[in-house]
Amino acid sequence: MVKRIAVLTSGGDAPGMNAALRSVIRAGLYHGKEMYVIYDGYRGLLEGDIHQVNKDFTSDIINRGGTIIRSARVPEMKEEATQKKCAQILADYEIDALIGIGGDGTYRGLAALHKQGVKVVGIPGTIDNDVGSTEETIGFSTALNTICDCVDKLKDTSGSHQRCSLIEVMGRDCGDLAMYAALAEGAEGVICVEHPLHEDKLFRKLRKMKAMNKSHAIILVSENLYDIKELAKKIEDATGFDTRTEVLGRLQRGGSPSAHDRILAARYGALAVQTLVDGGGGVVTASIGGEYTTVPIEEAVEMKHRHKHGLRDLIDMLQ
Ligand code: ATP
Repeated sequence: MVKRIAVLTSGGDAPGMNAALRSVIRAGLYHGKEMYVIYDGYRGLLEGDIHQVNKDFTSDIINRGGTIIRSARVPEMKEEATQKKCAQILADYEIDALIGIGGDGTYRGLAALHKQGVKVVGIPGTIDNDVGSTEETIGFSTALNTICDCVDKLKDTSGSHQRCSLIEVMGRDCGDLAMYAALAEGAEGVICVEHPLHEDKLFRKLRKMKAMNKSHAIILVSENLYDIKELAKKIEDATGFDTRTEVLGRLQRGGSPSAHDRILAARYGALAVQTLVDGGGGVVTASIGGEYTTVPIEEAVEMKHRHKHGLRDLIDMLQ
């Protein structure tokens, strides 16, 4: 029977990680478990930065962005010797199960620990929504709202100067932030892995808008696909639209989590603990078709990001 449960946050931070932490700790205490936090992700695990917490630890954190137990990227977790060391440290602390909140990389770390005999549960927390085993990750909704807030503001100034704004958002392997923001903002263009750039089509459209004296054009671009300054120059030369670039960067990671992310975090946290209480483990929590469920972690790490059915066509239809 699981008696002591530890939780860590790892990889890129995401709004709602604190709400997930709160849910895990409170659900654990509710079920009579001893709850522990590990600071700085796998770094803190390696260094034994492990502390027992009570309910007070989770007061006033549900609305806070970032992660109060911090996060870190720890490349040496890929080495078996490090994984063995982590498993030994958990055994030394008599921790029976580890819950990790993070993205795909965090899941790979958990899967490796699971192979070493550690009981693990993963919770998807990353703003990119790029975790293949679930339709929703904690932080995506908040990041999307932040992008929309920024784009609304940029539209004001773009419109005043009749400009085209090329806006770079996060999501290198998954265009969900770019595509959902394009849909929510009625953007004139979106460029991401799922929706690649068709120069002729985009330039034709912008030329037409320019000829019609449209006040502004908004184009969302996923990070790391293009040098957006070069792309802006190309657009300007080909269409005559005064084109400016904006890189939203880490702004997208910050801020108070949306109600949606807080509720998602509450669901996933409680489900993670319930799984352990029921004797399960070696899984990740997921939201699939509106249901909260679990997926074996070995399968989860192999699953490719799910492209949202019909999203691309909908964007094209409404542009
Ligand atoms: P995000 O998508 O927000 O960046 P993530 O969890 O995918 O989140 P990563 O930096 O990829 O972020 O991974 C977090 C940590 O997980 C790494 O720093 C490393 O400690 C561990 N990790 C990543 N890949 C592996 C792997 N293949 N094997 C073991 N551990 C890994």
